[in-house]
Amino acid sequence: MTDVVTYERRGRAALVTMNRPRYRNAQNSAMTYALDEAFTRAVDDNEVAVIVLAGAGDHFSAGHDIGTPERDADTSFPRQAVMWWDHTDKAGADRRYAREMEVYLGMCRRWREMPKPAVAMVQGACIAGGLMLAWVCDLIVAAEDAFFADPVLRMGIPGVEYFAHPWALGPRFAREVLFTGERFDARRAYEVGMVNRVVPRAELESATFALAERIATMPAFGLALAKRAVNQCEDQMGLRAGMDAVFGLHHVAHAHNVEVSENPLAGMDPAAMKRAAS
Ligand code: ZN
Repeated sequence: MTDVVTYERRGRAALVTMNRPRYRNAQNSAMTYALDEAFTRAVDDNEVAVIVLAGAGDHFSAGHDIGTPERDADTSFPRQAVMWWDHTDKAGADRRYAREMEVYLGMCRRWREMPKPAVAMVQGACIAGGLMLAWVCDLIVAAEDAFFADPVLRMGIPGVEYFAHPWALGPRFAREVLFTGERFDARRAYEVGMVNRVVPRAELESATFALAERIATMPAFGLALAKRAVNQCEDQMGLRAGMDAVFGLHHVAHAHNVEVSENPLAGMDPAAMKRAAS
């Protein structure tokens, strides 16, 4: 067994790497809680000023694990993000709502509020749940080969659980991304203001760590306050309340799928999603 998340100190930066390259770093709960542990470690380490989130291999993240052998949606983990009951002994919407509030929406919100700046270092695929992980970071540096998509409307679902789309993409482009499910490249992501830098693949690490080192020269408490300031303003712009509202729509879609097809993802597995995308 290899670690699903690795942790490394590089100067004043903590490098947190999703490490399931065989599955394009698909995020199962084991990875979620390993990420939470790694972020906590970085927050607690006074020598760490900035956190870099990366994906091992050719891709940042293919999204939530909906079909690998280590899919662990039925496994119980100690709840960290929200005060709610365990999902594993519940049924139906009760079960799904409990799980997704904790491992998707709750965890992403928790990570967004880490007091140290986080930089996502993105190459290759950054799809659906992968977008959630990039979006909770304060800055995003993308390689020229990076591509992004939220295709879950193919499952009848109006976007992933952490519904930052209108804020991260702007409402107009958010609609296009949701309505078509199509990929957009790093250049397009830069044009709409979703990413901070686009660099050649070979320079992704050096560019990301140069940015991290530059941020690290700032006072830690000032950075924490500046981060909170932007987050609070984003929330004043409706992000938090919008997400709460849309999370309900997301769960209407899951429940509808089960009512009409007995499958919360409308029968779509990774292979079907891939076929639909081509
Ligand atoms: Zn969901």
